[in-house]
Amino acid sequence: MTTTARTAVIHEHGGPDVFRIEDRPVGDPGKGEIRIRHAACGLNFIDVYQRSGLYPMQLPQALGMEASGTVEAVGEGVTHLKVGDRAAYAAQPPGAYTEARVMPAAQVCPLPDGISFDEGAAMMLKGLTVQYLFHRTTPLKRGDTVLFHAAAGGVGLIACQWARSEGITLIGTAGTDEKCQLALDHGASHCINYRTQDWAAEVKALTGGAGVDVVMDAVGADTFDGSLNSLKPLGMMISFGNASGPVPPFNLGILGPKGSLKITRPTLFTHISDHAACQDMAQMLFAKVVSGDVKIRIDQRFPLVDVAEAHRTLEARETTGSTILTL
Ligand code: NDP
Repeated sequence: MTTTARTAVIHEHGGPDVFRIEDRPVGDPGKGEIRIRHAACGLNFIDVYQRSGLYPMQLPQALGMEASGTVEAVGEGVTHLKVGDRAAYAAQPPGAYTEARVMPAAQVCPLPDGISFDEGAAMMLKGLTVQYLFHRTTPLKRGDTVLFHAAAGGVGLIACQWARSEGITLIGTAGTDEKCQLALDHGASHCINYRTQDWAAEVKALTGGAGVDVVMDAVGADTFDGSLNSLKPLGMMISFGNASGPVPPFNLGILGPKGSLKITRPTLFTHISDHAACQDMAQMLFAKVVSGDVKIRIDQRFPLVDVAEAHRTLEARETTGSTILTL
């Protein structure tokens, strides 16, 4: 059976205007695949990197890495999903900005009844990222202190609540006082407006001069130096994004005199490429959401046809929490 699905596609890299809405054929799933009819799609900053060309790819390409919906057909060998299941995913390859698609099943997870489709679309990529940052990247224990940039964003508000639920002190940063208040309301112990304050000095003051155990920095170019200077000796720098631009090349030798610092540059897709690991990580995320420890805050909704406007808003730092595309 072949149907068509309205899909947001790019034929060239560039600004938000490169999106075109096209009808694309959707066939039957092959071995290890499913066909899913989406209820909603998630918007993520990685979509901006892919659209702009910071992360180049073969074109034309439908974008989007996260969505929720109903399983319509199941290919040979898929055992963890069946027709009619509610499901959600963060997955490669891109192509989630569409009404329906055929895709590999391994990273698609059955969605618990207590989680809505909108929440599913808003939380998988961001929530699984927080899961691996807090549980699979460096040992973190109750009482540890983490510095987290862009704490009022999609990943950020989940991280604030996750930290609170694990007894971890999270010092957030954000670009406005209103965003700082939002991060505090979601569990950040402190939040610094990094556009108006000397945030690295403030982090030192908040930690009695000691610095933090871990920095989680997805702002990139603008914050990298200050982040390293905010760490305790033996502290861990997790550089996991480039919202302000990629971190410029640096001399590894600077990590020694700053206190034998550690640094890693992880990506979610390494962690979820293993089917069992992906499903386990999702179970932990779902438990946090179903228990109410983590609430998924959707502050922006755009119809799929307005995907260009959604990208403009995200890049302009005008969003808080998660953004979804509705169908
Ligand atoms: P957000 O909702 O957090 O939006 C990005 C935020 O970054 C903005 O709202 C803004 O917050 C802040 N920011 C700082 N400087 C800039 C700038 N120059 N331009 C634009 N924004 C800026 O996005 P997501 O939740 O989708 O993602 C957060 C980050 O995490 C991204 O960098 C993303 O790439 C990264 N990420 C990495 C993953 C990985 O596995 N490596 C997986 C998932 C996300 P403010 O106004 O408060 O400064």
